[in-house]
Amino acid sequence: MHYWSKHYIPTLKESPAEAEIDSHKLLLRAGLVRKIGSGMYAFLPLGSKALENVTRICREEMEKAGAMEVLMPAIVPADYWKAGPRWNVAREIMYQVSSAGEGAEAPEEPQFVLGPTHEEIITPLIGGEASSYRDMGKTFFQVQTKFRNEIRPRYGLMRAREFIMKDGYSFDATDEEATETYKRMAKAYEGFFGRCGLKFISVEADTGVMGGAFSHEFMVPADVGDDDVVYNLESGYAANVEKATSGLVPDDFQDAAPAGEVEKFETPGVTTIAGLAKAPYEVPAEAQFKTLVFIGDDKPFVVVLRGCDELEEAKLGSLGYQLARPATPEEIESLLGAKPGSLGVAKGTIKDRTAIDGIYADEAIRLIGNGVTGANEDGFHLRNVSVQRDLDIDRFGDFRKVKAGEPCPRSGKPLEIQRAIEVGHIFKLGTKYSENEQYGAIFVDKDGNRQPAVMGCYGIGISRTLQSVIEQCHDGNGIVWPWSVAPYQILITVLDPGVEEADSLALRLGEVAEAEGASVLVDDRAERPGVKFKDADLIGIPLRLTIGGRGLKNGEIEMKWRHESDVQKIAIADAEATLREAIKSKAQD
Ligand code: ATP
Ligand code: MG
Repeated sequence: MHYWSKHYIPTLKESPAEAEIDSHKLLLRAGLVRKIGSGMYAFLPLGSKALENVTRICREEMEKAGAMEVLMPAIVPADYWKAGPRWNVAREIMYQVSSAGEGAEAPEEPQFVLGPTHEEIITPLIGGEASSYRDMGKTFFQVQTKFRNEIRPRYGLMRAREFIMKDGYSFDATDEEATETYKRMAKAYEGFFGRCGLKFISVEADTGVMGGAFSHEFMVPADVGDDDVVYNLESGYAANVEKATSGLVPDDFQDAAPAGEVEKFETPGVTTIAGLAKAPYEVPAEAQFKTLVFIGDDKPFVVVLRGCDELEEAKLGSLGYQLARPATPEEIESLLGAKPGSLGVAKGTIKDRTAIDGIYADEAIRLIGNGVTGANEDGFHLRNVSVQRDLDIDRFGDFRKVKAGEPCPRSGKPLEIQRAIEVGHIFKLGTKYSENEQYGAIFVDKDGNRQPAVMGCYGIGISRTLQSVIEQCHDGNGIVWPWSVAPYQILITVLDPGVEEADSLALRLGEVAEAEGASVLVDDRAERPGVKFKDADLIGIPLRLTIGGRGLKNGEIEMKWRHESDVQKIAIADAEATLREAIKSKAQD
């Protein structure tokens, strides 16, 4: 039992200007965290308790799923990362550290990095010792501080430079066993987020720089999220927009036949889709080809979309370039022969076709049939351009961002889109990290053959999950903690502290609650009742007992759930039993 007067709960009446979203405001106002620097937060006592609860639930679910806890260093030799497959991509987000020797300059190349995730460490750690199939079938996890040099840290704990992650890694002998492990971890994730009181959905996700076979994200629907989830409730289809596809182009779609000869026409000063859609041209965006030029690992490539569609950048990952960036106007002119605004991939119009590594088209351009594209000559476009006859395309694929209303790939019903916060992410990695002989995880299988372990990795943003709980569970007065995560489960508000009868009743009920396994905070401050009730709502403890005032004289106390509006009056004689019942009802949830 803890007493508020001896506690440190610095509640704030006003939201600090730095906080933009409700959960961030409440983290600060309820005295859970304080900002130390951009993306760096200190957890105060209440925040620390809530964080500990989230962590404990996570540990329990991981252990139930058979994962074993380890703890790796957060600062690691850069060589581990350099030996792995993604140093060049990942180094941008890593804090790199060098320590100068005595009297010496710090070396140019970093000696150490602060870990943003730990595939590069655990693969050689476990792989270096695991030698036979008997060592396979193991899953490890840790709960650890991670560091990422986020370009734009924001929303408090949501996107921080230092945050707490549960990261897990599995090693299996066969692909089937790895898939089973993946499914078991997905179940554990559902258990974890459910026990944290979160409404969430699991969605198909892009594998990104992590690589690997497939992946799912666990998403908390919220308007302040950074991700878009595409879904159809009826069919159960749900995917991150980075990965989502639609049935816009039916399987049996017949491409239109060419319609007339290609014609060049003058479009002086028109350099946008919107410009060409207006008079005198009036070519709807749906009938225009949009031509985008990129440089992938020093090689130029082109992506063609419908004028009305947006590129989904994550989908460029399927092209196999490690790093891709938009080409500069100069690069574009030297490759295609025109400045952006008059570009196209009609055969014979591309200035330096041989320099281009690949021309990729989104499959939806097939719906255009015959349309308008840039002539690769400033101020000119081409009409009657047939996708099949005239465009110089190496490969069709899925590159556009799916829009709400497009047909669900499973049911054909309209897709919906919702903003969401990514709280967890699991990957079936396959052998991307394990297959390297020197550094990977190779074992000898039952038949005596050397094989790379089939790996999976599993992340949960522990601190982001905590804030997501607040984002989902609050009202205009403050946090409404779920029982499982609440820093204290029961608040006993003593209206006249110092009155012996009130104090001793608070103590007795507090002991009863603790004996039932609940955690208890007693508000014994010499504050007005109004102040105490406001603070109680703000810090959001699920069950409040109020002792004192007129009630005490009438032989009653009050009981109120934070998530309900009515207050129950309970005879002091029944208080212990009622309290026990209330706690039992929660423990069963
Ligand atoms: P995001 O897309 O939000 O940047 P990510 O996909 O890079 O996240 P993962 O590498 O999948 O993140 O990391 C596992 C989990 O760690 C994420 O699901 C998220 O909950 C959490 N996480 C990642 N970056 C941050 C951050 N900067 N601050 C707080 N939590 C984070
Ligand atoms: Mg992720």
